Amino acid sequence: MKIKRQKKAKKALSFYKYNFGFREPFQILIDGTFCQAALKNKIQIKEQMPKYFMGEVQLCSTNCALKELDSLLKDLYGAKLILQRFQIRRCKHSKEPVSASQCLLSVVGETNPHHYFVATQDQELRASLLKIPGVPLLYIIQNTMVLEKPSACSLKHVEAVQLGELVSPTEQQSLQNLKAEQGLSKDGEERRGKKRKRKSGNPNPLSCLKKKKKPMEQQPKRTDGEKKKRSRHRKRKPADLTVGVKANTS
Ligand SMILES: [Zn+2]
Repeated sequence: MKIKRQKKAKKALSFYKYNFGFREPFQILIDGTFCQAALKNKIQIKEQMPKYFMGEVQLCSTNCALKELDSLLKDLYGAKLILQRFQIRRCKHSKEPVSASQCLLSVVGETNPHHYFVATQDQELRASLLKIPGVPLLYIIQNTMVLEKPSACSLKHVEAVQLGELVSPTEQQSLQNLKAEQGLSKDGEERRGKKRKRKSGNPNPLSCLKKKKKPMEQQPKRTDGEKKKRSRHRKRKPADLTVGVKANTS
């Protein structure tokens, strides 16, 4: 039985490695419900997780998940003790903590960019996460830890990428590099073509997601530009001085 379970896990793992770029150390985002179930079933998360993944793992959680255990009944104290030992990842709720499920959903986001595996027994949270492509789920059932097989949503996403309807993250990067090499004119033509397509049909929801990403990426670039401008001014002054010195000596 154990070997069969591990084989299934290996298959699911390689799916996420190959199609979504998951790499060691695997990031496991854990909530209180999972810790509680582990405690009940006498599963040592820290020991078992690396064995199950056959590799290095990083166990982590969020402050909101921890705080939720504070506010709940005292019998979750054991779960809190376990969760406390994991790395606490930053979330957007430092001022006002939200429920663990809400927090984990926001940390995973729309595209799970940090490649989190989510370990939870919360059915509602699992249902929401199943709608996001590339989010592997872990849960405990009958005294054992199980990595759920890829969701229909993840499978669809991969199929779309393979059919060329969507562009995988790595392909997207190389495309951008190519565009940069070939100059801006071609890029402009392609953009115009895309706009016409969008007007004629319904907008592709996934292309809308990509749009949101772009302004986020551009913002830090702008600040870089400002810094560069400043440094250029500074550089000019000493350059002018050296010219002056040269003129004097000659
Ligand atoms: Zn949070």
